[in-house]
Amino acid sequence: MKMADQIVEKTAIELGTLLADGQVSSVEIMRAHLDRVREVDERVGAFISLDEQDALAQAATSDERRKSGAPLGPLDGIPVAIKDVLAVRGQPLGCASRMLKGFVSPYDAHVIEQLRGQGAIVWGRLNMDEFAMGSSTENSALRVTSNPWDFERVPGGSSGGSAASVAALETPLALGSDTGGSVRQPASFCGVVGMKPTYGRVSRYGLVAFASSLDQVGPVARSVDDVALLLGAVAGHDGRDSTSVDQVVPDYFREAISADRKWRLGVPKEYFGAGIDPEVKVAVDKAIEFFSRAGCEVSEVSLPNTEVAVATYYIIATAEASSNLARYDGVRYGHRAAKAEDGVDLYFQSRAEGFGPEVKRRIILGTYVLSSGYYDAYYLRAQKVRTLIRQDFLNAFEKVDALLTPTSPVPAFRKGERTSDPLEMYLCDIYTISANLAGIPGLSIPCGFTQSGLPIGMQILGRPFGEREILSLGKQFEIGHEFAERRPNL
Ligand code: GLN
Repeated sequence: MKMADQIVEKTAIELGTLLADGQVSSVEIMRAHLDRVREVDERVGAFISLDEQDALAQAATSDERRKSGAPLGPLDGIPVAIKDVLAVRGQPLGCASRMLKGFVSPYDAHVIEQLRGQGAIVWGRLNMDEFAMGSSTENSALRVTSNPWDFERVPGGSSGGSAASVAALETPLALGSDTGGSVRQPASFCGVVGMKPTYGRVSRYGLVAFASSLDQVGPVARSVDDVALLLGAVAGHDGRDSTSVDQVVPDYFREAISADRKWRLGVPKEYFGAGIDPEVKVAVDKAIEFFSRAGCEVSEVSLPNTEVAVATYYIIATAEASSNLARYDGVRYGHRAAKAEDGVDLYFQSRAEGFGPEVKRRIILGTYVLSSGYYDAYYLRAQKVRTLIRQDFLNAFEKVDALLTPTSPVPAFRKGERTSDPLEMYLCDIYTISANLAGIPGLSIPCGFTQSGLPIGMQILGRPFGEREILSLGKQFEIGHEFAERRPNL
């Protein structure tokens, strides 16, 4: 086997050890991944663009730091690829939309500053659903991303590029964003690990806003330890995001909770009802059995407001989106229509040309639910229901430490299968949306495969700021299984 092949198969933590032992340089690591992208990305389609020289220059700088003998953190010299929704200074920032074609970010997001501060290589622009609206990456205005396990199928979304690139060994680590499941659902479709942190755990400064009360940046990797490492690197307080919480960031990687702890785990009965694929149910049931055999106390719990979560989300998320996306008016930045009769017409034309159909649908829905006469009936009511959904979780967490559910009711579906009916697409997020509405953290880990070889994901939901708990549970499962070690045949 070629050395480069071996490099791309390693996790970030393994690469860190090789770097520390002087067995490989960061430039070699970066070259191996760039070669891999050249080899497979025409078929996978995870990257929208990448700046090879910039990535190699960062790697060379890391190698120099290492030579100087300076003490280095575990991420120094390790590549982290970035979803096209996060601002990276000097790189394009497009949200996979025509609206932002050609826009170059003048600054770094907080999470990017954190990564740079720790010597990580920040590289690539990963494909996504336009403005993070979607569950399949089919809403990208720029390119098609395929599921590395089956090219006829979608990688999930909206962070489809993040999950596909990690699954295809194009990068050991990636960042995505999760407003209603956009990190966890593609992670489950692509057989990798992904997490949405507690709302406020990671700063949103430099994350292009979709629905500000729901958005969080989340890590994607091929092992729970790698996700823990990346989360620890990007989490923390930032005064530029007023919702970022000033709370100590634990060492998620080193401070895993011992498997001896007697966990109390809840299985919400509403997450196994109609619409769940039988193979998904079998795999998740088996994973639950694993935890009870390991000595955990497993009990059924109820989250009675689950049935209204999708409706609640699509009122709140679209309302916030209609407000957030009002800034794209063709005046200061973004697409500007070539011909317009006056100022108002310029807004009309620029927005009509710049946004794709799903984004327009969301803006129209969101503007409707906020409009006078409908505000009380929809938006205000949805906010009240949101409180009930959060209360359901807080009640459950009085009895249990974490909840086990499927991440998605179905494995990766075929391209085009759900594009004609938006509601079909919205229902993909039925198990992930509530965590965003409640603000709690959720982890998706591989827990099985279908007969036809598609990955299946399990979701572990935790208390607010319970990232350490759910990562420890995820790790305990990962140690007992080999699902996370299987690789798609490219
Ligand atoms: N699929 C959901 C939506 O379309 C969630 C997207 C996300 O988490 N960014 O809104």
